Amino acid sequence: MTKLRFAPSPTGFLHVGNARLALINWLTAKKEGGEMILRLDDTDEERSTGEFADAIQEDLKWLGLDWSDLKKQSDRSDAYTTAFKTLKNAGRLYPCYETGEELDYKRKRLLARKLPPIYDRAALDLTEGEKAKLEAEGRKPHWRFKLDQVVIRWEDMVRGPVEGDGASMSDPVLIRSDGRPLYHMPSVVDDIDFKISHVIRGEDHVSNTALHIQIFEALEASVPIFGHIPLLTGPGGEPLSKREGSQSLREMRENGIEAMALNSLLARLGSSDNVEIRHSLDDIVAGFDISHFSRAAAKFDPAELSNLNAKLLHELDWPEVKDRIAIDGTNETFWCAIRGNLTSLKDAENWWQVVKGPMTPVIEDAEFLNAAAKLLPDGEITAESWKAWTTAIKEKTGAKGKALFMPLRLALTGQPHGPEMNNLLPLIGRENILARLTGAAD
Ligand code: GLU
Repeated sequence: MTKLRFAPSPTGFLHVGNARLALINWLTAKKEGGEMILRLDDTDEERSTGEFADAIQEDLKWLGLDWSDLKKQSDRSDAYTTAFKTLKNAGRLYPCYETGEELDYKRKRLLARKLPPIYDRAALDLTEGEKAKLEAEGRKPHWRFKLDQVVIRWEDMVRGPVEGDGASMSDPVLIRSDGRPLYHMPSVVDDIDFKISHVIRGEDHVSNTALHIQIFEALEASVPIFGHIPLLTGPGGEPLSKREGSQSLREMRENGIEAMALNSLLARLGSSDNVEIRHSLDDIVAGFDISHFSRAAAKFDPAELSNLNAKLLHELDWPEVKDRIAIDGTNETFWCAIRGNLTSLKDAENWWQVVKGPMTPVIEDAEFLNAAAKLLPDGEITAESWKAWTTAIKEKTGAKGKALFMPLRLALTGQPHGPEMNNLLPLIGRENILARLTGAAD
């Protein structure tokens, strides 16, 4: 059974990098006919909040991603205590008493000698008496996992064969001196208990994976398949974290980005497949292949997303948007007239305002516009009226090209660019047209 997990920490809002990982996990699950669970890594009690946990779920739903189960690490302390005992009994955990300053000092000394700052395992040499003495002094131990000093290998879904040398890594701290587990052990224990078959996460976790594999083995569990996705950078290769905020999903949503524009981009960005607009996640699943992702960092360019967003909007049909345009009176004709001019769905409101008013006509040549008003064809204003009307104005006034069209557009819409006038004219209607041309409109 293919089962993946998306494991954000509810310590902030999801950003574009999280969305990409969530999407890739979800797509991999769907592609294999499997499922994805949502795991909230909320062991950091100070920084995790219920509001962020809710916001994460809301953002994932907005993207259209679902999860078969929701798990919270804060509910799982019994499982972590059991794993702690198992590892301790197996001789893979040892208590350490160094303070943060002492460890820092050791690290600096090694670095000064140009040696890798690996923990020296001094705590392994402590006698029972020495440990008892330290504890009597009030020191509480933190617990390190004793790595096997062997080369750890795995076949990565993105990076191909990867290896990490246990001898060149510090034994990781699994439990803090206040008894709380750090990220590694809960992550592995959850992946075991929830029967996760594939772990897909950011490439910042590659070195963690080497040690996680040893923890899986120490807990006598089978090791999942791993895939590490290179991180996103800004358009100039700068870390995205430097531009915090503007990449949060909420902000994108508020700025009128369509979820499927973002999904279409993120499913392909950094892979050898071209970015193409897709209108549904099902359409993305078919062409998705994680092995097409490259090992190089992918550049996320908000301008590229905006372009894609506009293109997607231009292709949307009325039934797909009608529930999201909360304006009375809008209809398919309006939508078809304006969609080609949208960069965000919110712009539809502005065009509705232009059509129905009140708006401020731009009047540069009142005489010309008064003449034009008199030539407006009788009867119902239709999509053909614009042609007939401008032909009549041209014949009467001799104006042509821009000199003919621009004063009309400026008077009728208040702006120099916009949807085709032949489509707008019937929407604006005779009464508004005449009021605007003759300066009677506000
Ligand atoms: N909470 C971790 C993170 O957001 C999860 C990493 C993992 O997928 O194991 O980086």
